[in-house]
Amino acid sequence: MMTAKELHEKILVLDSHCDTPIFLRRKGVDIGQRLQTGHVDLVRMKEGGVDASFFAIYVSNNWEPFECTFKALEAFASVYDMLDKNPDKVALATDAKTARALKQQGKIAIFLGMENAGPIHKDLSLLRLFHRMGVRYITLTHAGNNKVCDSSATKEKRWNGVSPFGRELIAEMNRLGVLVDVAHISDQAFYDVLKYSTRPVVSTHSCCRALCDVPRNLTDQMIVDLAAKGGVLQITFYPSFLDKEYSLAASPLLDAYEEAQELYDKDPVAHEERFKQAEKALYELPRPSYKRVVDHIDHVVKLVGPDHVGIGSDFDGIDVCPEGLEDVSYVPAITEELYNRGYSPQDIEKIMGGNFLRLLP
Ligand SMILES: [Zn+2]
Repeated sequence: MMTAKELHEKILVLDSHCDTPIFLRRKGVDIGQRLQTGHVDLVRMKEGGVDASFFAIYVSNNWEPFECTFKALEAFASVYDMLDKNPDKVALATDAKTARALKQQGKIAIFLGMENAGPIHKDLSLLRLFHRMGVRYITLTHAGNNKVCDSSATKEKRWNGVSPFGRELIAEMNRLGVLVDVAHISDQAFYDVLKYSTRPVVSTHSCCRALCDVPRNLTDQMIVDLAAKGGVLQITFYPSFLDKEYSLAASPLLDAYEEAQELYDKDPVAHEERFKQAEKALYELPRPSYKRVVDHIDHVVKLVGPDHVGIGSDFDGIDVCPEGLEDVSYVPAITEELYNRGYSPQDIEKIMGGNFLRLLP
């Protein structure tokens, strides 16, 4: 019988969401070597047995439209530069077959996702260009309403779901084979997406609202409906989405963290100091354990079985990590916990990557 460690090494482990390009865009950050900051670099990915990871091209809803497209291009460029610099360790992947072949060669597969459709404006040819550049999912919006749909983060809704342009965008994404990511969107937008999309839909980094009642998480009914359409919910590691008690304790500290993060482009030196302070304050709170991630996985499995759940860490996009899951090198702890809870190797293989890979044509 295989140990949990052997199983973790054998299977293809896929993380459907990390924000590492935020750091790559900052010139001089070389993830080819072990970093003392952030949650992800190629050395720690290897240690953590993470074989494939979606790097998110993130833009903020606070940025001007042209700024969104420009910063997205900078993020693409920084990922491509990183790939060129580390040809012995990583390569771009856009399908499951390539990811499996890279694992055989001992290399990590880097996929691209776009977090927020802002860089597309209302131009479907830009969508087609981003698809050519490697993008295989798009999170329709982030923490604000945009031209495509409403966000889970806003009180005022602009479209009461998906906009008419959003509907066109989804149709073209379906045609191209770009997955629609419902993370961050409003409940009504979620149901519009399920109605309009002709293909399975994913949430690349969310949790279960039944276990932590925040708008970013999915209700049991949403999970059932997502699964009925063949989709996958990728459980995220963000403590505020894992645990309501933590979420309430942390919320007064989050503004300071956000402001420190935003300060980078204006004043990198001041950013550094403020960022450290904000991070320290958050780490002083007791954090949920990595086992809480597996509680959320368990919950989805109980609702819809083992074919519709996976992991989407949000490493480098989150301010703190769960206890025992401090960076990407700790990912084997999840496999081990699933193993200890009695999951079969076949189910663990699906959860740790197989389910999401199935949706990548
Ligand atoms: Zn996100």
